[in-house]
Amino acid sequence: MSIGTLGKQEFSAEQAAKAAANVPKEPAGLPDINPALLQVEPLKNPKTPLPANELVFGKTFTDHMLMVEWSRETGWAAPLIKEYGPLSLDPSSSVFHYAFCLFEGMKAYRGEDGTIRLFRPDMNMARMNRSAARIALPEFDPDALIELIKKLVMLDAKWIPSEPGYSLYLRPTMIGTQNSLGVGASGTALLYVIASPVGPYYATGFKAISLRATSEFIRAAPGGTGGFKLGANYSPAIVPQVEAAKEGYAQNLWLHGEEHELTEVGTMNLFVVIDRTEEDGTTEMVTPPLQDLILPGVTRDSILTIARDHVAGKVHVDGLPANGLVVSERKMTMPELAALARQGKIKEVFGAGTAAIVTSVDNIGYLGKNIPIPCEADGLGPIAKAMLGRIQGIQTGKIPHEWSVVAGRV
Ligand SMILES: *Cc1c(COP(=O)(O)O)cnc(C)c1O
Repeated sequence: MSIGTLGKQEFSAEQAAKAAANVPKEPAGLPDINPALLQVEPLKNPKTPLPANELVFGKTFTDHMLMVEWSRETGWAAPLIKEYGPLSLDPSSSVFHYAFCLFEGMKAYRGEDGTIRLFRPDMNMARMNRSAARIALPEFDPDALIELIKKLVMLDAKWIPSEPGYSLYLRPTMIGTQNSLGVGASGTALLYVIASPVGPYYATGFKAISLRATSEFIRAAPGGTGGFKLGANYSPAIVPQVEAAKEGYAQNLWLHGEEHELTEVGTMNLFVVIDRTEEDGTTEMVTPPLQDLILPGVTRDSILTIARDHVAGKVHVDGLPANGLVVSERKMTMPELAALARQGKIKEVFGAGTAAIVTSVDNIGYLGKNIPIPCEADGLGPIAKAMLGRIQGIQTGKIPHEWSVVAGRV
């Protein structure tokens, strides 16, 4: 495992050597995840899927789950798909005490033609491996896990509602299962994938949200773990979330440092669109750069790539400015945003993530004042809407694209 450059952060040689010494070495040549060894256990009690309109996010699970165990001595065991159900773990397992836990969020989409597709699963696998490396859990062959996820999805294909906007949310998870209270790398781990049919995030149409710009609490810190999808990053954000809700805001806009740098919105990446017609005739789309503070979202990367391809003339995306779109990954502070908003130069602000793809913002509470952000009556800004159309088109197969990976056909 290379520990020299985790995220963008450079470790000194001394720090890297120390960190490596703390992570016990695995014997060479141990087995990786091998899809050819997959065992599928027959179901004892197949369930009946709920009608699509009764689904609540993350509450209903399909018939099956995928499990792969790992140990430092024997590597990855044969994968198993079995009936969805409780795990049995020793109470001393490292996941329960020291948060050896990481996860991914991705979806399988059913196209009108009955084809079931994943969206950029390679990005989720790469991120999962980075998360694993960050907390000394084992890495794995990304293609092998994608192949197994396809098998799971196709076994449970009847659980993907055919109504538009519905999908199968997939939750690949890895936990440390070492039975020991000693603080150290986990010698055993369990990788599992569960699947949950979900409806459109905004069932009654898109709705813009109001944010509370927060510097009192932080989500991520330089040198910290905010750039990795670790379970430990999420529980500390609940109290700030409850406080934002009490004040009438939907989410926190996490600020960083004395300059009140913009980072993320709740658990979404952030985009700000600035009108620069008066200066140089451009429209600037800004998102904070990937460093320790920002989770490298698949949706974030997709939006940046789509915008850059549009600017380069590789594709034409309906709804994006025909000329003068500038794509910036740069630092932006809350005082800069507030000043631009006062001058009427903020065109739109939106969050981006797998759950809703995009969520527009219509207000930001900052230092006791509300900053209104323009948003159209249908709850989406123009660039957010253009991105939504393009990404949904690719996910459902209406727009043929290499990002769309076929799992199978029903
Ligand atoms: C998962 C997540 C995102 C969005 O990532 P996607 O891959 O686009 O779903 C953004 N920020 C945080 C903190 C996240 O956990």
